[in-house]
Amino acid sequence: MENPLDGNVVGGILGEIFPFEMTSARATCAGCGATDPIGAFTAYVHGMGTVVRCPFCDTALIRLARVRGRYWMDLRGVRVFQISEER
Ligand SMILES: [Zn+2]
Repeated sequence: MENPLDGNVVGGILGEIFPFEMTSARATCAGCGATDPIGAFTAYVHGMGTVVRCPFCDTALIRLARVRGRYWMDLRGVRVFQISEER
C-alpha cells in the first residue's frame, strides 16, 4: 500500500524534536532485538504521520505525528536508544 523509504527520511522531523542527529542514533527493536542506526530501518511516510519499522520483523519502532502544533511519539517498539554524545 505504501512504499517503504530509507529511515533517513525521518531525520528532519526527529531533528525538530531532539537536539541530536537522530538518524545515526542506534535503536534496538523491541520485537527481535535487531540494533541498527535509525537510518537503516524502514520508514513509511503518509498524511497521518511517519512510522519507522524493523526490516526484519516488521515491528513499528517509532510512530510519529505532528498535529495542531504538537508532536505525538509512540516509541514502544524501541527497547533501547543509543545516542552518541559526539555531534
Ligand atoms: Zn525487529
